[in-house]
Amino acid sequence: MKIWTEADHQRNALSGQTIAVIGYGSQGRAHARNLKDAGHDVVIGARRSGGSWKKAGDDGFRVAEPAEAAAQAGLIALLTPDMAQAQVYGQIESSIQPGAALLFAHGFNIHFGSIQPRADIDVIMVAPKGPGDLVRRQYEEGRGVPCLRAIAQDATDQAADKALSYAHGIGGTRGGVIDTSFQEETETDLFGEQVVLCGGTAELVIQGFETLVEAGYQPEVAYFECLHELKLIVDLLHEGGMAKMYEFISDTAAYGDLTRGPRIIDAGTRERMREVLSEIQSGRFARDWILENQAGLPQHRALMRQRTEHEIERVGRALRGRMSWLKPKADQSDNAAEK
Ligand code: NDP
Ligand code: MG
Ligand code: MG
Repeated sequence: MKIWTEADHQRNALSGQTIAVIGYGSQGRAHARNLKDAGHDVVIGARRSGGSWKKAGDDGFRVAEPAEAAAQAGLIALLTPDMAQAQVYGQIESSIQPGAALLFAHGFNIHFGSIQPRADIDVIMVAPKGPGDLVRRQYEEGRGVPCLRAIAQDATDQAADKALSYAHGIGGTRGGVIDTSFQEETETDLFGEQVVLCGGTAELVIQGFETLVEAGYQPEVAYFECLHELKLIVDLLHEGGMAKMYEFISDTAAYGDLTRGPRIIDAGTRERMREVLSEIQSGRFARDWILENQAGLPQHRALMRQRTEHEIERVGRALRGRMSWLKPKADQSDNAAEK
């Protein structure tokens, strides 16, 4: 597998072109600031009614309505939430210059067909494997978050070069760029967040907490065991894989892990993982999520309320209040890791 790095970036395929970044949230703000520091001319596309219009202006950017920003650009990065992208594309479509590139950080709308882009533009993806806050911080420190690159449409024969230059501009070539397809990125991203990173982890934490509390243990103790200490384990996995985790946990923990873990996550779980994957592959998940948005998010809001009102949240808030080192930095609080 080829990993594209700084050395592979010989010619800047975006030099002399304006880049329009539409959406100034987690990814948009980080990309725009990195691209600007890398010497690109950046214009932000935002709606006047939202908070981003002023925020981007205060950060020193030129700000314009999405269609006006798109009209100026050789590359347009569409970095609004996935469910707002089809509508924004509708607003900008007729303003995009022939031969310009339309860039995504996640393949959802192209892969599932919610956006069918004009045939005379490039359609590319540069997907950083990390939240916007990290994309910015690593760049400032001279490093970069690894990125995936994909090409859905190559109208100019330069789509791949443009994507690599964009990755270079946000720091991605420092971390390494790996080629994928819109299909692979979209399906694996959804699977990861549903099964392991968010869905699986959150449910594991809550079910573990509830099991201890219903057995009569103190909720505060259950919180430490099932949520708080997860970071320790994840940090070890992140830094050195399974080997590093086993090196640092006790022998007792390792024996319990190896013998009891497979009873918790078992063949039945695996079967349901395959089911969730096939709902992603068939487009069923995408349809559900789009319909839920069209209905005004009733189920999403109700489930989110249950989550945020759970006892683990109340207990956690009180305990975290006593751990002063956990106070979120102002710059990070609005940057969720998985969206
Ligand atoms: P955010 O939720 O942070 O985006 C919010 C921004 O979008 C705000 O600037 C908001 O403006 C703007 N916006 C929302 N709706 C509209 C609209 N109708 N018209 C114009 N602007 C609008 O998005 P993310 O950064 O989380 O996600 C962007 C893309 O990056 C998605 O494709 C996502 O899948 C992908 N991605 C995200 C990651 C992450 O860590 N968050 C990681 C990797 C990829 P306003 O202030 O006006 O509301
Ligand atoms: Mg992801
Ligand atoms: Mg995602």
